[in-house]
Amino acid sequence: MKSNEDGIFSNGCLVPFGTIQLEPHSSVLNYGQGLFEGMKAYRRPDGGVQIFRPEENAMRAQMGADRLLMAAPSVEQYTDAVKQVVRANKRWVPPFGKGALYIRPLLFGSGSVMGISPAPQCTFLIYTNPICNVYKGRTTPMDLLIEEKLPRAYPGGTGGVKNIGNYSSVFHVMKEAKAKGFTDVLFLDAVEHKYVEEVTSCNAFIVKGNLISTSPLIGTILPGITRKSIIKLARDLGYKAEERKISVDELLEADEVFCTGTAVGISEVRSVTYQNKRVEFKTGADTVTQRLYDMITGIQTGLLEDKNEWVVKID
Ligand code: PMP
Repeated sequence: MKSNEDGIFSNGCLVPFGTIQLEPHSSVLNYGQGLFEGMKAYRRPDGGVQIFRPEENAMRAQMGADRLLMAAPSVEQYTDAVKQVVRANKRWVPPFGKGALYIRPLLFGSGSVMGISPAPQCTFLIYTNPICNVYKGRTTPMDLLIEEKLPRAYPGGTGGVKNIGNYSSVFHVMKEAKAKGFTDVLFLDAVEHKYVEEVTSCNAFIVKGNLISTSPLIGTILPGITRKSIIKLARDLGYKAEERKISVDELLEADEVFCTGTAVGISEVRSVTYQNKRVEFKTGADTVTQRLYDMITGIQTGLLEDKNEWVVKID
């Protein structure tokens, strides 16, 4: 679907997957005026299909669009479009427990601009792809490398929204970390290079005794929907959950470290390496991470009761 000159989106239509046309002048190609979202459709044990907190994704897209001076679909238009696309691709949702249908909404400046200015027209499109479980909890824990020099986001920048440019700017550090055998990179704050921010595509948490902590939303980390849900579930389970600055020293003293995101789910972290020193954390069945993993995965896949009304069934 496309926006008109008043920034209002018309209702879109379903088309077969294929290439799209873009003018060479479009602002997404020239200036990176664009954002994406990531969601999943899960198969329930009864064979039905459901999605998780779509309004949250719609609202985050609106927030990002404001930051990048783009028009955005309304929450209703966004969620209706996601539902239509999932319904049309239902047969591709993997069986219960075997993965999900990944949903990728994209919003970008598609109208042509000469000179550095925002696009007069934006495009919103959604495509999907079946995926297996990215990290399977206990079987593939993460080994993270703390990036000491290059931050992922700067105060006042676009780290708090899903701007497409946030990702290509860290490709090279990810590539280097992967070449050394790490799963991903853990970024620090841009000012003191001392506080933990987040991983390339997920938020980070530490567990110490009964206390679960994650970095605060100060504009440089993405307000993850899984992060928000885990904070609520952790409190429901009787843990203390805090959003506050976490220094590297504190992280290295943690009992457990885990990451949260739509793609990675809840992934336990086996080790963190900082200044060539590797520190290992507790993993396995008897962990807080596993308890939270079971809880949120159970809700997302319809195995557990959805007391918070987070799930939307696509029937
Ligand atoms: N941080 C970053 C940088 C991300 O790209 C993502 C993935 N969207 C997340 C955190 C996790 O967000 P969510 O739980 O909404 O998927």
